[in-house]
Amino acid sequence: MQPQQIIVAGGGAAGFFAAIACAEANPHGRVTIYEATAHPLAKVKVSGGGRCNVTHACFDPRELVKRYPRGSRELLGAFHRWQPRDTVDWFEQRGVALKIEADGRIFPVTDNSQTIIDCLRGAAERAGVSLVLQTGIKSVRRLAPSSPGGAGPFQVTLTTGEVVTSDRLLLATGGNQTNLGFTFAQQFGHTIEPPVPSLFTFHIKDPRLEGLAGVAVEEALTTVRGTNLQASGPLLVTHWGQSGPAILKLSSWGARILHDCSYQFTLLVNWAPTFSAAALLAALEQARAAQPKKQVATWCPVGLPLRLWEKLLIAAGLAPETQWAMASGAALRALAAQVGAGEFAVTGKSAFKEEFVTCGGVRLSEVDFKTMESRLVPGLHFAGEVLDVDGITGGFNFQAAWTGGWLAGQAMAR
Ligand SMILES: Cc1cc2nc3c(=O)[nH]c(=O)nc-3n(C[C@H](O)[C@H](O)[C@H](O)COP(=O)(O)OP(=O)(O)OC[C@H]3O[C@@H](n4cnc5c(N)ncnc54)[C@H](O)[C@@H]3O)c2cc1C
Repeated sequence: MQPQQIIVAGGGAAGFFAAIACAEANPHGRVTIYEATAHPLAKVKVSGGGRCNVTHACFDPRELVKRYPRGSRELLGAFHRWQPRDTVDWFEQRGVALKIEADGRIFPVTDNSQTIIDCLRGAAERAGVSLVLQTGIKSVRRLAPSSPGGAGPFQVTLTTGEVVTSDRLLLATGGNQTNLGFTFAQQFGHTIEPPVPSLFTFHIKDPRLEGLAGVAVEEALTTVRGTNLQASGPLLVTHWGQSGPAILKLSSWGARILHDCSYQFTLLVNWAPTFSAAALLAALEQARAAQPKKQVATWCPVGLPLRLWEKLLIAAGLAPETQWAMASGAALRALAAQVGAGEFAVTGKSAFKEEFVTCGGVRLSEVDFKTMESRLVPGLHFAGEVLDVDGITGGFNFQAAWTGGWLAGQAMAR
């Protein structure tokens, strides 16, 4: 009997994890990864600023799914089968020591993504996976079954011109908008939710941010005006606008809405969200009463970085050298508005040096998340970003790739 042939399209995180799981579970199968470029796992290499944020220390599937703007419902069952704890065990069993950072992100202790690449490549080799580089999948079709009622093999044409067949085919071609994985899926009758970027930073040109690049606040609350989109977390002022988790999370939850408004909208920033509106005004009035002779710029009663505080004072019409005693009630109310709900005109987005992923991809209702198999085409599987799944920043996107890859690999081995 011929060994089972399994083809994996794409040598990224999902493709490698699936291929290894499949080959380990079925040593008699022939698993081949075709990777279009000369650089497999290229995104792993650059991920997490070169450190690779492998996953997140969130071990309760019901909590974990809350980090996925797209895919949370479908991933719940999948995370009961393969979750961050399994990912951690998998890498540690293969010799990779991992560490949990204070915010829950998990990295290799080496702080070097090459450790993860070496582990995946080594595991694939030991499991007998063939890795064929610089060989993309150009087209795919299903051949007629040899016996009535059976499923015919897939005929796969490679960019080298070679034609190969397989019993199972995994599309793990990633989320790149132009990738052929979407085309193949569509040819097989699947629906593609239009791909748009997620996890990006905001372009804002505003005098309140000028000269502040690098200034960060630990906790800010961001809102897109006119929507219920809201996010909180650290906020970083950049040379071109704003970044940090409070911005990236907003971009993720709002990926489609922000795309539809061409990334032009009003952002409201609460720089001190631990204060209610009344508490904020009270804190400013208390500062005026307690320190009447001090200049307003020398001390921020709500703990903001002084350089940012000075900009907000100016925006509220208070000169930095004003004494607290001279700040009128109206000026304090204007200042409270600047601190609690500063309006910023966003004029565009940027993905520069940030983690970015794709919102959109193969429609999830058309995929069985127990096996990652197509509900339309038996033997066709999907994993990773080719699906309409994406998470916020923090290791959640790789976790979706590991989970989908492992489930697909197990199923293809059967
Ligand atoms: C700069 C950056 C940093 C990131 N950092 C993190 C992080 O720290 N933590 C985290 O969780 N997520 C991070 N992400 C997101 C994460 O990298 C992706 O979610 C993840 O790589 C998706 O894996 P994948 O296997 O689905 O797709 P990819 O990694 O994109 O792999 C797809 C592969 O398929 C190949 N391919 C495409 N078409 C074909 C074809 N026709 N034939 C053959 N091969 C093909 C591509 O060349 C590619 O190698 C980051 C992303 C970026 C861009």
